[in-house]
Amino acid sequence: MSDLRELPSVDQLLQTRTAAELVAGYGRGLTLRAIRETLAQVRIEFQAGGTIPQGTLLLERVRMRLESWLAPTLMAVINATGVVLHTNLGRAPLSREAVRAVQVVGGGYSTLEFDLPKGSRGSRSVHAEALLKLLTGAEAALVVNNNAAAVLLALSALAKGKRVVIARNQLVEIGGGFRVPDVMRQSGAKLVEVGTTNRVHLRDYEDALDGQPAAVVMRAHSSNFRIIGFTSEPEFKDIVQTAHGRGAVVLDDLGSGTFLDTARFGLAHEPTIQEAMEAGADLICFSGDKLLGGPQAGIVVGKAELVAKIKKHPLARAVRADKLCLSALSATLTHYLRDEAEREIPVWQMIGYTPEALRARALRWVEETGHGEVLSGESTVGGGSLPEETLPTYLYALAVRQPGKFLARLRKTNPPIIARIQEDRVVFDPRTVLPDQEGAFLVGLKNVLNEFKSQLNHDRSAT
Ligand SMILES: *Cc1c(COP(=O)(O)O)cnc(C)c1O
Repeated sequence: MSDLRELPSVDQLLQTRTAAELVAGYGRGLTLRAIRETLAQVRIEFQAGGTIPQGTLLLERVRMRLESWLAPTLMAVINATGVVLHTNLGRAPLSREAVRAVQVVGGGYSTLEFDLPKGSRGSRSVHAEALLKLLTGAEAALVVNNNAAAVLLALSALAKGKRVVIARNQLVEIGGGFRVPDVMRQSGAKLVEVGTTNRVHLRDYEDALDGQPAAVVMRAHSSNFRIIGFTSEPEFKDIVQTAHGRGAVVLDDLGSGTFLDTARFGLAHEPTIQEAMEAGADLICFSGDKLLGGPQAGIVVGKAELVAKIKKHPLARAVRADKLCLSALSATLTHYLRDEAEREIPVWQMIGYTPEALRARALRWVEETGHGEVLSGESTVGGGSLPEETLPTYLYALAVRQPGKFLARLRKTNPPIIARIQEDRVVFDPRTVLPDQEGAFLVGLKNVLNEFKSQLNHDRSAT
């Protein structure tokens, strides 16, 4: 019956009230494009035996196309996984002050490169870099886009065409395609591997350095794995001494890097920035958004002469930090200087929650929803730090018939809730559900529970 001639023209569609609404909401250009693409698709469908959408249905399809084009892809989610530094979920949430700083600096003009007293051009190094010197006692500091860039830049500036010595147990892949040996090669350095996968001795370093001089001895923190069993490794300060005695610079890629001792929170000890300084490393690189708890950034601290050389390298301009990063990082560093990191930085707040506090929250969720039970479980720090280490927690657990479907439905709430499955149950870890999001979390959860009422397994429920 139907015929392509029934299909309205673009102009006819544009004259409708619905189209006028779409133009008001999405702009004329985009609406026109959506109309043309929808009409083209309907023609293809018709040729394949489909029918022509009647009445308002055609413009409904235009609306859906516009909505899907502009739906945000980068949006807030609720992290109920218990992984504190979840790389896929954006690693560290910023502190309130860091967010405020980003808002103020990003929403207007700033002193990014302006010297107020002089009224003339200033340097972006006076912001976070000055705070880093104050905090670490290092002679100089540099902030770039991320830690991968920091390592690449440092090696490019100091070791291009020269030998860089690294132990075989440190030739690691961090994830997301970052492999220490590849980055080293990319910088133009000549990789000199010493020791074996499990055992590295001081004399391995001595042999490598005595044969031919090297520009750099590098240490890369084995952030995301652990070698156990028949292993050995020299003390870092002895490696530093060996390197210095033979004219090599020591570059320490700490990966996460932390100013606070993780052992105080019942975790294994993660090497601190202070320890790397004390051991005599010439340059220390670490991330801004791992245990530091700030924005994505790569931080280099160390000897003034070396940092100056790095800053002069052409790559430095290509990977420099922007004003949003510098404002958030400065605010984050200020928390450490004021000795209030545990109270103000979300990553440390979350690591520091006591099991009792977490249990009380999980129990409240049982009470609020009238479903589920509380189980003991484990949270992890994540983000390429503290492999195999866990923090004791309490989980809110739901026995549902189709846990995978339940998880998928949770991801459609606003904001989406990201949970996990453990022993066939859907579990939620209160540790990483930010206090500000708890209200929205419970609303979303209750909605999904309502839809899945018939699927809940009441016999295992604690209520
Ligand atoms: C995480 C990590 C990096 C990369 O840091 P980004 O800030 O993610 O670029 C480099 N080296 C080590 C040892 C790491 O753990």
